[in-house]
Amino acid sequence: MADCSKIRKFKDPADYVKRFVIREEIDKYLPGGRHFIDEGKIARLISETDGKPADPVKVREIIAKSESTCETLTPEETAVLMQVTDPALFEEMRAAADRIKKKVYDNRIVVFAPLYMSNLCVNGCRYCGFREGNAAQKRRVLTMDELGEELDVLAGRIGHKRLIAVYGEHPSTSTEYIAETIEKCYSHAVPAPRSGRKNAIRRVNVNAAPLPVEDLRVLRSVGIGTFQVFQETYNRKLYEQMHPSWSVKGDYDWRTTCFHRCLEAGVDDVGLGVLYGLCDWRFELLATVMHARDLERWFNIGPHTLSFPRLEPASGTKVPEESPWLIDDATFARILVIARLSVPYTGMIVTARESAASRNHVLDHGMTQLDCSSNIAIKGYSDFANEAHQEKERQQFMLGDNRSLDEMVRYLASRDTITSFCTAGYRCGRTGGCIMDALKTGREGKFCKINAVLTFREWLDDFASDETRKIGDVLIEKELAGIKEWLPKFYPTVMKQYEATCRGERDLFF
Ligand code: SAM
Ligand code: SF4
Repeated sequence: MADCSKIRKFKDPADYVKRFVIREEIDKYLPGGRHFIDEGKIARLISETDGKPADPVKVREIIAKSESTCETLTPEETAVLMQVTDPALFEEMRAAADRIKKKVYDNRIVVFAPLYMSNLCVNGCRYCGFREGNAAQKRRVLTMDELGEELDVLAGRIGHKRLIAVYGEHPSTSTEYIAETIEKCYSHAVPAPRSGRKNAIRRVNVNAAPLPVEDLRVLRSVGIGTFQVFQETYNRKLYEQMHPSWSVKGDYDWRTTCFHRCLEAGVDDVGLGVLYGLCDWRFELLATVMHARDLERWFNIGPHTLSFPRLEPASGTKVPEESPWLIDDATFARILVIARLSVPYTGMIVTARESAASRNHVLDHGMTQLDCSSNIAIKGYSDFANEAHQEKERQQFMLGDNRSLDEMVRYLASRDTITSFCTAGYRCGRTGGCIMDALKTGREGKFCKINAVLTFREWLDDFASDETRKIGDVLIEKELAGIKEWLPKFYPTVMKQYEATCRGERDLFF
């Protein structure tokens, strides 16, 4: 059980709203009152480059730097990449993004599922169906028994090993509740349909509101994976329009300094994101680069992941339809490529908010993680037995890609891409600064390839349909042949673990 004795507790939402933000934990990271998101500089870079053709020589130099160093680009360099409109030059960028992704993460895609724990919220975000005051939303917080039912489907029927647990911001889903739900996810083991072997969730990432340092220490103590907080928009003025000043979320500085607090607390895998469609995407990408660089400057650790949610229709709001900054699929693809080149070492997540066609299209644009078999209604997995059922009043927004995990694994295999269920990294200390170095040098990619094969074998034997298993077996043979060629001396050790996995041993990793 997590020790929550040091954290502040609130019962009354009004009290929570008034007292949650801790000023000193913001000011510490804004020395001299200067914010690391330099909005003046961003505006200047956009106006200097707007409508001007890119210099191909400069673009190629920047691509080469990104590829050879794997270091975060400067905002000026990112601005140059944003100028590229020529299809042939963009294709050079895309191909480089794909090469970098493969160097850092190999030919694998990590899969996960979202698990919504609650939709009670004290905030009033204008684009979100969960916002306070939206009477159309059916509110609930999962009890531990209900969470168990959700896990029966996620870990027992589908075979997920990695979750992103999502929480509204409310005293009823306090840090104690978050900690308890994380512990429950790790401890709830369920027999798999194909083999009867027990499966449990091995990595719980969290998407929740920014927290104080003490609370983050509690989450660290229960083994949180990545702490993910989307900035929504880095444009302060627009941020203030979207998030009323009476709300906790209305404090721009509390949100932007949240990852500094995470890293201070030892939660060193942090997941950044922007809600694309609220503001000019160029502004957001340049700000993301500034954010990543400031984290690197303070802690020598950058974002573990970047997410690219796009605004989707939601209950009781017209913002997602009426925003002047909505982006089309081609721009979305551009954003991914520029992000991969700008922060080369980071994981990149494209969620099922996207259509299947859009996700298929951007698979070779630098992305590394997908969710599938997703259901974002509260208690949606157990109530709908994982049919692709959606109900606007029970969920935050509508999903675009309803493919099951089995279908996705098969699709990825048809594109020579291995689905990885690996969660070894953080469990053997490869997080934060340690993993940053391993990623930049391509070392992590090698561990990942082997662990991807072992966990893929587990999943194929425990959960796959016959059709998917057949395709998966062919891909595994190919991967093993690749490992033999590339690591001949280590190959027998790998095979020992592989054969043990085939015999039914579970959770073996390097
Ligand atoms: N309540 C926490 C917060 O806001 O940080 C975390 C959970 S919130 C449900 C997760 C994310 O959903 C938000 O950060 C926002 O980016 C995203 N979101 C909200 N409304 C959305 C919409 N209409 N379309 C797509 N994403 C949306
Ligand atoms: Fe609440 Fe998060 Fe939705 Fe805002 S985005 S209303 S904070 S759940």
